Amino acid sequence: MKAKEHIQSVLDHVVKRDPGEREFHQAVQEVLESLEPVIAAKPAYIEANILGRIVEPERMILFRVPWQDDKGNVHVNRGFRVQFNSSLGPYKGGIRFHPSVNLGIIKFLGFEQIFKNSLTTLPLGGGKGGADFDPKYKSDAEIMRFCQSFMTELSRHIGADTDVPAGDIGVGAREIGFMFGQYKRLRNEFTGVLTGKNINWGGSLIRPEATGYGAVYFAQEMLRTRGDSLEGKICVVSGSGNVAQYTVEKILQLGGKVVSLSDSNGTIYDPDGIDEEKLKFVIELKRIRYGRIKEYAEKFKGVEYHEGTRPWGIKCDCAFPSATQNEISLADAQALCHNGCCLLCEGANMPTEPDAVHFVHSSRVLYGLAKAANAGGVAVSGLEMSQNSMRLKWSREEVDQKLQQIMKAIHKQCVDAAEEFGAKGDLVAGANIAGFRRVADAMLDHGVV
Ligand code: NDP
Repeated sequence: MKAKEHIQSVLDHVVKRDPGEREFHQAVQEVLESLEPVIAAKPAYIEANILGRIVEPERMILFRVPWQDDKGNVHVNRGFRVQFNSSLGPYKGGIRFHPSVNLGIIKFLGFEQIFKNSLTTLPLGGGKGGADFDPKYKSDAEIMRFCQSFMTELSRHIGADTDVPAGDIGVGAREIGFMFGQYKRLRNEFTGVLTGKNINWGGSLIRPEATGYGAVYFAQEMLRTRGDSLEGKICVVSGSGNVAQYTVEKILQLGGKVVSLSDSNGTIYDPDGIDEEKLKFVIELKRIRYGRIKEYAEKFKGVEYHEGTRPWGIKCDCAFPSATQNEISLADAQALCHNGCCLLCEGANMPTEPDAVHFVHSSRVLYGLAKAANAGGVAVSGLEMSQNSMRLKWSREEVDQKLQQIMKAIHKQCVDAAEEFGAKGDLVAGANIAGFRRVADAMLDHGVV
């Protein structure tokens, strides 16, 4: 069978088998449609049905998460862990707590994670997990009881050499702490079973910063190819959580100006720019008080707040989506281009809808695909695992240096793979091909498993 028909038959099968998993179909389509030249070049990939196997998780775990709120009411949520691919190392990928979580979303995130982790060149397989739990407006005690219940079941399936989860939307240092505590109690062992741990008890310096910093380093690499830099650039950032906060911090350090942030309620536009002091306010607002971004507009003069909108209509040079999937529609992408945006760098996972991706692709906009641009987080998680195994701690400068090297190397891999397969300058194809090839070759080596 020819590469093109083979890819189409795998895509058709994925949709037919799990018709409701829209985000998963989207993620699979985006990867597979880049792979025709690499599949055509190596018949062994078709003979060993690598594609048919790579789209099917090695294991999917679904479980009940019962917990009690502060008033004694009993609630039930659904927990997920999708152990997608372990060809390159233990499953690795975050845990998301958000009411929208379902199996299709966890599968999309786990599928993306396989190729992202491969691009880091670290020994990491791909996985993802989460629960349809809404942490908003919950007390610390409720969050703790939920995390303990979630980990009570999850602990049977993970381990430092098996599957090493981290944070994602709704899961930060507080939640990782509660889950680690419960794992340690149940298993009577102190191991690097989770990353994103507090620096006092096994975490890595720069891990909280890594996804945001990494995305900005990747943007810098893209701009460098045009002899340009972030100096003086007007940037819009969406979200106001972990990735957004450190994206803003690094843009400021590199001389750019950030004029927006958002949350699921709305967007703030600050024409004067978010400076270090204002960023401190955002960090306190989001990390300590778990408040709404609207308060930023109430606190600082000259700031506009737009309920129910996203920041893509704001005039900018560079855009950093850092909230969630499918947050940039075709109309948003057109507005960005129309307003002169020259760079789109994805801190969030799959933030750009497929028709918007095609539009951006056909424009002159530099486009950093999530699985390459936001790989800094998992890369430093990999470094956290190394430090845990060696029982030592690297300095801030050392980890930051390694992160910069990794982001540079990922950019180079994307450029080189695109060029090798006749798609010069196409970083989307480059990321998908380079990420895929390493996993596929390992799968060939391991036989039909
Ligand atoms: P956080 O929970 O820290 O922050 C998420 C931010 O996005 C919040 O401001 C949140 O607003 C907003 N948001 C979430 N869901 C929606 C939605 N449906 N519509 C609008 N806004 C929304 O998560 P992270 O910063 O860790 O993650 C952000 C993105 O980056 C995600 O796509 C994640 O998968 C990706 N990512 C994260 C990594 C990490 O290391 N943390 C690594 C790689 C990728 P609100 O508070 O109102 O919910």
